[in-house]
Amino acid sequence: MRRVHVVGAGLAGLAAALDLADAGVEVHLHEASPKAGGRCRSYFDEVLGRRVDNGSHLILTANSAVLSHAERIGAADRLRPLSEAAFPFVDLDTGRRWTIRLPRSPLGALGSASRPPGAGASEILRGAVGLLTAGPRATVAGAVRDRGPLWRGFWEPLCLAVLNTPPERASASLLRAALIRSIGRGAAAARPVLAPEGLGAALVDPALARLLQKGSAIRFRRPLEAVETDGTRATVLRIAGERVPLGPGDGVVLALPPQALAALLPGLVLPKPGHAILNAHFRLPAGAAEGAPPILGLLGGAAQWLFLRDDVVSVTISAAEAGPAWSLGRKEALARLWDETARALGLQEPPLAARLLRERWATFDQSPAGAARRAAGRTALRNLVLAGDHVATGLPATLEGAVLSGRRAAQILLG
Ligand SMILES: Cc1cc2nc3c(=O)[nH]c(=O)nc-3n(C[C@H](O)[C@H](O)[C@H](O)COP(=O)(O)OP(=O)(O)OC[C@H]3O[C@@H](n4cnc5c(N)ncnc54)[C@H](O)[C@@H]3O)c2cc1C
Repeated sequence: MRRVHVVGAGLAGLAAALDLADAGVEVHLHEASPKAGGRCRSYFDEVLGRRVDNGSHLILTANSAVLSHAERIGAADRLRPLSEAAFPFVDLDTGRRWTIRLPRSPLGALGSASRPPGAGASEILRGAVGLLTAGPRATVAGAVRDRGPLWRGFWEPLCLAVLNTPPERASASLLRAALIRSIGRGAAAARPVLAPEGLGAALVDPALARLLQKGSAIRFRRPLEAVETDGTRATVLRIAGERVPLGPGDGVVLALPPQALAALLPGLVLPKPGHAILNAHFRLPAGAAEGAPPILGLLGGAAQWLFLRDDVVSVTISAAEAGPAWSLGRKEALARLWDETARALGLQEPPLAARLLRERWATFDQSPAGAARRAAGRTALRNLVLAGDHVATGLPATLEGAVLSGRRAAQILLG
């Protein structure tokens, strides 16, 4: 390939563009919105007076594609792995607090430090065997049968966090794939990685800078509107009203979410859009949350996870449509989530500012049926490949899957 048009400047598009540019290909990156990053973007929020991420993202040391992406764009120091694979929790119903410390090797998971209070080692064994032996059509709730303390304190929050899908709908094989790569490799692979300056500073802005340095053309507000083909290859892209003819040495990477792709390549089997994620950001008075952990799991409320960065605490709720905060108005939702945050962190003073963000279709449909509809990167058009977290990488809709899919798309075009 002499020239490649990469469409979509999320992590998948950026990863593909970087590999192509490194291989000496002329890269044109087209993004519909005014900013890069897609679902993993940072922005300056006028209400909060702070730069925040659209939604908090959990990265683990197992996410080697994400870590090496940061490294090759010179931003490795903007990701900070925690020293321990430790996940503190609070139960808002009982006030009880505990920390799940993941063991060095998977067998150590039978030790009491790796379990929520009240959960037995046999429950862990049964759940792990159920998940490991689940077929492609099994849901997480179907594979893991126990409904004891381990369900409420581990499987349910884990499934929601990893797959953004309630366990009754979520694909067991997708959860298994994520767990085998992380917890399955022991504590070293399951340490949370923080981005103290935000996802944009760690994964997006330096990628754009590197592409510009390599001579790539990056253009925003350039929606792809149509793809013309001769049945064997893409021949024309219609971008923002402009016709872009594709010559024999020209390739295309479509790094778009399925809902955008479906309109461009009708007939392609793709997963349907999945669940929403709701985020609330609260700016705290100076020093208010001193000593609080950077990540805290919550049970017994609407809020599921708190992420603390400097003086902003962010609440995350996955598969949010099913939770009580989704149907509330903005004010009521913020009041409820603040109440839970204040109880979890022991905060007395009210927040200085608050922001509620609803990301619809945060991930594709990660049910067994949705997972079965994932497309391969290669398409019937020999100069057009797909990238994006929905492409069949075997991984859930994550940053890791997005980066891997982008790198594979570039590999296909580079032959
Ligand atoms: C709130 C939230 C929380 C999340 N939490 C986590 C987490 O904890 N851990 C994790 O690993 N993952 C998490 N994810 C998922 C992760 O963000 C995604 O898997 C990843 O960012 C997807 O990248 P992508 O490049 O495949 O797609 P996207 O980021 O969606 O990028 C696609 C790009 O294409 C652009 N585009 C769309 N249509 C067109 C068009 N017609 N022409 C040109 N451009 C177009 C879009 O504007 C976008 O920039 C979360 C997602 C959300 C929304």
